[in-house]
Amino acid sequence: MVNRNQSSGDDDFPYSLYCIVDNEEGLPMTPDQQDALLIIDVQNDFCPGGALAVPAGDEVVSIINNISPKFQTIVLTQDWHPAGHASFATTHNADPFSTTTLHYGEQTLWPDHCVQGSDGANFHSQLKSDSAALVIRKGMHPGIDSYSAFFENDQTTSTGLSGYLRHLGIKRVFCAGLAFDYCVRFTAEDAVKENFETVVIEDACRAIDMDGSTNAATESFAKIGVTLVQSTSL
Ligand SMILES: [Zn+2]
Repeated sequence: MVNRNQSSGDDDFPYSLYCIVDNEEGLPMTPDQQDALLIIDVQNDFCPGGALAVPAGDEVVSIINNISPKFQTIVLTQDWHPAGHASFATTHNADPFSTTTLHYGEQTLWPDHCVQGSDGANFHSQLKSDSAALVIRKGMHPGIDSYSAFFENDQTTSTGLSGYLRHLGIKRVFCAGLAFDYCVRFTAEDAVKENFETVVIEDACRAIDMDGSTNAATESFAKIGVTLVQSTSL
């Protein structure tokens, strides 16, 4: 089992079995009807002033707004926790950013964030989301965290996103949003695992960068065939 809280140590990743790379990094990639844009967790709590702010997280908003019109299929994800969620440090009387063991393995404990119905859980007010057909809410199960848009952290509980995308004929996903080294990373890794060609739009993401997590994400992407591009390539 892959431990989603390790910043490295992915030597037994199975994903190379599914690696598909058709694009040379840096070449223009014009999205078509087989492409989807996954906008990950662009919510108030992950932006400056929020409960779990990603440094400069709000800077992704204008970049994502610029590229969104290029896509026919757009999916938003929204971290959406019940109060007292298992990923909250307060639930365990522990320090934020410490770790604990839940039934599926090690879990980083976060400040309370993205509580259902709170302003912090709302999308950033400037994010243009009208053209998104689907909002995937994740982290809703009280005892399971969810970084990925595809599977919760137990890696077996599906959000249903794969089936949705397949039914639309989507072959390739482009990932953007927050945070590069957590929810974007695990979404991209699961997209590869689910046999989607996978692209991460690097300048449309910002990282938490905790304990080498940004480098770990970049190394993982190189290893499993996730293509990193800049938004100007689209
Ligand atoms: Zn969360």
